Amino acid sequence: MDLSLLNTEKLVRTERTAGLEDLSAEEILAWALDKFSPRIALACSFQAEGSVLIDMMHRTHRSKFRIFTLDTGRLNQETYDCMDAIRARYGVGVEVYFPDAIKVQEMVRGHGLNLFYKSVELRQLCCGTRKVEPLNRALKDLAAWITGLRREQALTRNAVKKIELDHEHGDIVKVNPLADWSYDQVWDYIRKNDVPYNRLYDQGYSSIGCAPCTRAVKRVEDQRAGRWWWENEESKECGLHFNLNGNVEGAEGD
Ligand code: SF4
Repeated sequence: MDLSLLNTEKLVRTERTAGLEDLSAEEILAWALDKFSPRIALACSFQAEGSVLIDMMHRTHRSKFRIFTLDTGRLNQETYDCMDAIRARYGVGVEVYFPDAIKVQEMVRGHGLNLFYKSVELRQLCCGTRKVEPLNRALKDLAAWITGLRREQALTRNAVKKIELDHEHGDIVKVNPLADWSYDQVWDYIRKNDVPYNRLYDQGYSSIGCAPCTRAVKRVEDQRAGRWWWENEESKECGLHFNLNGNVEGAEGD
């Protein structure tokens, strides 16, 4: 398809332009970077999908692309190591967003440091404070953001499109180039291209978030089974890609 015909207004009107789903991850990324730079950035939590997308963007745009990450204050050391490895390998900066210190203080004073184990509501309060509010700040001046969402990751993600409008964030464009990729495709790409990746995967993790809320899984479990493992499947999103009422936004990992 002729990508020059694709514009934001058309996306707003139709929400989906025929043929987009047939584009490769590289084609989607190249189109999005050319169209929206510098008001586009990859939201990266240093999972395998983020590593793949950074490598792809580096091939076509060298270091001229933006990455942001949310440092919740509860990440694993391996995640910081991965961030440093990516900075060194690709020569890119990472825009780090932290939660509001006063809000974190109030939350911890009121409910304790490990409030997330007490109830779904308190877990969502923590995700809201440490992730969602910083994400809103990160997206404030962007026209588009790129995520590593894949349909296969969870039931809550099986309707994700490669390009969609993000109604939760002012109808900016949300680009999910790996929407139709499998777990094996991600790892084939990483091995074939010797891409830096988060070493927690070597310890049996299949999805990576905050340290107290993520654990290694057995191979037979689904890919996000290690996230908030004490909760039911329906509540297992943090509000970054889906609102905390459980509604699928727009029709995305961290
Ligand atoms: Fe808090 Fe856990 Fe959510 Fe991280 S994943 S923000 S520690 S509840």
